[in-house]
Amino acid sequence: MELMEKPRIAYFCMEYGLHSDFKLYAGGLGILAGDYLKAAKDNNLPVIGIGLLWKQDYTQQYLDNRGFPYDTFPEFNYNFLKDANIKVTVNIGGRDVVCKVWKVDRFGNADLYLLDTDIEENRDWVINDQLYGGFSEKRIPQELVLGIGGIRAIRALGLDIDIYHFNEGHAVFAGIELIREKMHNEHMSFEDAWETTRNQIVFTTHTPVRAGNEEHSLGMLWDKGTYNWLSYDQLRAIGGDPFNMTIAGLRLSRIANGVAQLHCETANRMWNFVDNRAPIICVTNGVHRDTWLDKRMEETYKNNGNLWETHLELKKELIDFVKDRTGVVFNLHNLLIGFARRSTEYKRTNLILKYEDKISPLLKEGKLQLLFSGKAHPDDTEGKTLISHLVSMSKKYPGSIVFLENYDMEIAKKMVTGCDVWLNSPRKPNEASGTSGMKAAMNGVLNLSTLDGWWPEACVHGLNGWQFGDSFHSEYSWEQDRHDIESLYRVLLGEVIPTYYNDREKWVNMMKASIDTVYEKFSATRMILDYYKKMYLEAYRLLPVRVRQH
Ligand SMILES: *Cc1c(COP(=O)(O)O)cnc(C)c1O
Repeated sequence: MELMEKPRIAYFCMEYGLHSDFKLYAGGLGILAGDYLKAAKDNNLPVIGIGLLWKQDYTQQYLDNRGFPYDTFPEFNYNFLKDANIKVTVNIGGRDVVCKVWKVDRFGNADLYLLDTDIEENRDWVINDQLYGGFSEKRIPQELVLGIGGIRAIRALGLDIDIYHFNEGHAVFAGIELIREKMHNEHMSFEDAWETTRNQIVFTTHTPVRAGNEEHSLGMLWDKGTYNWLSYDQLRAIGGDPFNMTIAGLRLSRIANGVAQLHCETANRMWNFVDNRAPIICVTNGVHRDTWLDKRMEETYKNNGNLWETHLELKKELIDFVKDRTGVVFNLHNLLIGFARRSTEYKRTNLILKYEDKISPLLKEGKLQLLFSGKAHPDDTEGKTLISHLVSMSKKYPGSIVFLENYDMEIAKKMVTGCDVWLNSPRKPNEASGTSGMKAAMNGVLNLSTLDGWWPEACVHGLNGWQFGDSFHSEYSWEQDRHDIESLYRVLLGEVIPTYYNDREKWVNMMKASIDTVYEKFSATRMILDYYKKMYLEAYRLLPVRVRQH
């Protein structure tokens, strides 16, 4: 597709997953941001990313000898960061915090600028240590550095930007800074500054769970200096009191989006009560092919080669990888189901193990093999308990159930290329998108998933994967769980397993259909072009010419 105009975009995100060992990511949000930046480069689009240089990972999470997860926070140093030779300051709590700016252009040439506060000038104040560690006291300074520092870095670098894209609410203080600039430099009224700024911002919301949408008390924002020249009433008009970062994003932007069709409906329902906000449209996520689709599988697919043979090669590599990490050797010729997610209640990690007796003969025989991975947030004891349950099941069924500790992009890549089936069991409608399913589908790994996130848009049951749960929804989670479990076993035992062992031809046809479905439609290229067509250009056309940068 040719774009007539290409407004320049600054993309703000708290995390970026560009490479497994570049530890600036916790999960889906960051991987999405990394894939987005790479796709921008692939398509020659004028996009830069703004982020924070985290000293530590989200968590390096391992299992103790009882099989319970514990967290470690080693510090990382990267020798490939390029000094952008600028510093900007952000006033936080009455103190000028100096932010050094680094440039990264190493991964798919994606242009990313990172603000670093771990420098001599701030030596007694640690701000960007642990990604998503701590509460408001810690988070607000980080978000001030990202938002206000980010805008100041763009100015100091002399970059021309037309549209600012906030990927999730963490960056909304950038909008406050854009308003301040207009009030301060151009003597606009607050109302005019806000109205003009709106046309420069688009916003992506991700979290369909109300509690997952961050709020800060306006008192604490005042203490931290977040008002940034605005008054209490002005700040409250934007984000409410308490100041909700998502509501602020919706009121600061011209257009907002959800990340899958179903999520978009959910988001519209959820934020229906918010007045004076941007419409929420849908741009379904996509994944970066060169990152997630194995080259050999892509070649085989393009040349109409033997998908099964290539799949076995990749499955063998995964089995070797698991053996190296755990000593367990899976059987290459038996069904291998993968599940890797953040360990949290609604994702129902252990759903498949709920009625154990239904599958225990298969597990004992090794006809059903389950490979799990995923981290829990360091403060999420419930999520960690879920993991410890998986670990105890892996001891009960040695050789058939494995949990891989310290989930990262490397494990993800191995799993989404080497499993036979990709299981996904969120309690609908809590999953915004679930991009790992797209990665798996692209490699001919068949999805077995509830109709949540992206899957309703792609699933043709029995043709390119399977759904379970039939979109059933109950406000009682016990009822929904019971329904979904029964449905899962019905599909698993009645369709997935018989097809795998008795109808290889159908399986391979499904693999092909799976790749056909996602190859273009759920690629990051399709996604970023959608962002241009449906959002950036829409906002850009409303910008007065004098505000446009080119
Ligand atoms: C793709 C990916 C995710 C996001 O996938 P979900 O389906 O949302 O769980 C999270 N973590 C890693 C390491 C990934 O590669």
